[in-house]
Amino acid sequence: GAKEVFGPSHAFHDEKLACEVMEALELERDLSRGFVDGEFYLEYQPIVAVENGDVRSLEALLRWHHPRRGLVTPDVFIPLAEKTGIIQVIGKWVVQQACAAAATWPAPTGVSVNVSGDQFKDPYFVTHILDCLVETGLAPERLTIEVTEAVFSIDIDLVCRCLAELRSGGVRIALDDFGTGFSSINNLRLFPLDELKIDRSFACQMLETSQGAKLVDLMHKLSETFQISTTIEGIETKNQLDFIKLLGIGEAQGFLFSKPFAAAEALGYLQARLPRPVASATP
Ligand code: C2E
Ligand code: MG
Ligand code: MG
Ligand code: MG
Repeated sequence: GAKEVFGPSHAFHDEKLACEVMEALELERDLSRGFVDGEFYLEYQPIVAVENGDVRSLEALLRWHHPRRGLVTPDVFIPLAEKTGIIQVIGKWVVQQACAAAATWPAPTGVSVNVSGDQFKDPYFVTHILDCLVETGLAPERLTIEVTEAVFSIDIDLVCRCLAELRSGGVRIALDDFGTGFSSINNLRLFPLDELKIDRSFACQMLETSQGAKLVDLMHKLSETFQISTTIEGIETKNQLDFIKLLGIGEAQGFLFSKPFAAAEALGYLQARLPRPVASATP
């Protein structure tokens, strides 16, 4: 019966699970303290034009330096921050920091900011973002808000209204991790989008099988059909770059170009890549 089959391993599993739950609870309790104590910071990762390597935008990626555990990655703490609701406070801070940083970068380099679906529940979500732009002087076209397909499970009307409001204020909207969620492609028609980011998992498979390659091509064509620009995440090799060039994908992100770096390095990184002044053609 079940006891013989699950007996010993069940006890072990319980212990391991209890341990994981305790750890998660501890982190959850630490979140607000850590935030107040300034343990959170942003790193930035370039999104580049495939044709010439020009940096189009830097994506802000949140980090938590925990005093005992060291670096905790967003995949671990964002779900906890969503559960406790503190994501609304942290998310506001992220937008503010990112806009302030981007305002010091050479135009037209933009900044891309990830927002969680829960942030849309804040009635001042849109106002806060537009206020940040005014306060920092950052041109709205230089800000891209990245949402994942998970926002579609919130309140479609609410999300749609917020995105439309942001967009009419000039802010760009990107759909992140495309192809991994549960949403239907009908969302591409329903939502006001400027950019579609093909998930990293597709870049991984792209050169392994012909189906993998076809999928990426298909997603890119889908986005073209809706006049949305395509970015592909997780480009790590020159072969992958050559292939997406062939497909005509506009923008890419990944370790091949750069890993995420500290905020203090952003300005130097961008200045070193400014287009050189064109020499006068007349003698
Ligand atoms: P994302 O927005 O899709 O960000 C891309 C993730 O892929 C980042 O992980 C980045 O470091 C990683 N990455 C980029 N290029 C490569 C590559 O070539 N190879 C590999 N293996 N990985 C690559 P990270 O920083 O751990 O962030 C994970 C996720 O956490 C993000 O995925 C985003 O969904 C979420 N996140 C990060 N910052 C924030 C934030 O401020 N607010 C919210 N709500 N979510 C955030
Ligand atoms: Mg993102
Ligand atoms: Mg992504
Ligand atoms: Mg992701």
